[in-house]
Amino acid sequence: MDQKLKSKLEKKIFIKTFGCQMNEYDSNRMYDIANKIDYKKTNNFDEATCYLINTCHIREKATDKVYHDVGRIKKRFRNKKKPIVIIAGCVAQAEGEILLKKEKYIDAVIGPQSYHKLNETILRIEKKSEKVNSTEFNVIEKFDNLNNIKMSKNNISSFLTIQEGCDKFCKFCVVPYTRGPEYSRSVEEILNEAEGLVANGTVELTLLGQNVNAYNFKGKKLSDLIFEISKIKNLERIRYTTSHPLDFSDDLIKIHRDVKKLMPLIHLPVQSGSNKILDKMNRKHTVEEYLSIIKNLREANPLIKFSSDFIIGYPGENENDFNDTLKLIKEVQFINFYSFIYSPRPGTPAAKLKQIKENISKKRLIIFQRKASELKMIYRKKLFNSLSKVLFDNKLSGNNFFGRDEYLNSVIVKSNKNLLGKIKDVKIIKGNQNTLFGEIVDVNNKKDFAA
Ligand code: SF4
Repeated sequence: MDQKLKSKLEKKIFIKTFGCQMNEYDSNRMYDIANKIDYKKTNNFDEATCYLINTCHIREKATDKVYHDVGRIKKRFRNKKKPIVIIAGCVAQAEGEILLKKEKYIDAVIGPQSYHKLNETILRIEKKSEKVNSTEFNVIEKFDNLNNIKMSKNNISSFLTIQEGCDKFCKFCVVPYTRGPEYSRSVEEILNEAEGLVANGTVELTLLGQNVNAYNFKGKKLSDLIFEISKIKNLERIRYTTSHPLDFSDDLIKIHRDVKKLMPLIHLPVQSGSNKILDKMNRKHTVEEYLSIIKNLREANPLIKFSSDFIIGYPGENENDFNDTLKLIKEVQFINFYSFIYSPRPGTPAAKLKQIKENISKKRLIIFQRKASELKMIYRKKLFNSLSKVLFDNKLSGNNFFGRDEYLNSVIVKSNKNLLGKIKDVKIIKGNQNTLFGEIVDVNNKKDFAA
């Protein structure tokens, strides 16, 4: 076989993704970019000639995980040709130079705003075996480049990044340092990408941004964008995440009344139910203001439900503050909870504060999660024998299909027909904390629903 063709066929890239949906979106875009220089996606770790770890700095011990993973690659490739090893994402941005110095097996670090330079980086390593540090903040250049690269994924449910970065500077968070200041992509760019995804089979679109409701492109806000996107034919569902309470403007609340394609689940992180702690976190809003947004949204659309993020054991949190958080979850009746013990991120202001004893935080987290599970189960039991609209996006074994209802609850049904990409009425029969089980019903057939 011709040598050039042989090396082309051998190029394979494997990406391991940590963290949020935005990292998932970025990883898919990196596969598309690398494809331009003949690196084909592989799901087989062992055959990779380029191994990329797309990291997240939000979770604890993120850097340790990188070293651990690189150690694994080293071991697996001990008797084989070394793959190109690239660390991307927020850990690369925050600790790029240290990673390169400490672990010689790493060939390059690429920050979240520089991953459009992936191919340039790979080619430089291929040619000269040099170390590459690409951690500049050039978000405009990044999206300009990405607009020219076609999306290859044809997901029924797709992510689309519309906004990046954050100007809020919550004291516990690394995002303003790793992703840079707030930046919004143009409406035109987003509409083009959304239309392309829908033409490729997307039925549900989730608009992503670290501060998605701060979206503002030349005066066009998130509500304007949602309105425009909702006009795309064959797109059935629109979601957006993650929002900050401070940017929940009246126009955005109103669009939840007016646009039926907008799903009635809102993920609105509150972090704590104590005004004292919110202030210490620099969240820039109070519990009362948060509750007023919830009330206004429910008035705009009574079907809306909420999920939220919680940090337990933030520096300065006492029993009263913690009890205020418990009070808040009961009052709002969230349907989903993402809770973590506070752990300091190097370089953030909160990392310098006096930390709460670990055993206290752990105890509080257990209490919190127990209460959260109770609330979640009360909500889920109310769904039994009711109807949900489910979009199916995965076929499991034994004629089982997996999908999500309007509130992102996982639902499994059995069907002899292919349900992929379809939205069906499902009667929920039973379920647990994670999954609901149901059967397809014909809503026009009363007997069917009463069964
Ligand atoms: S608003 Fe969100 S992304 Fe921005 S600093 Fe706060 S927690 Fe981080």
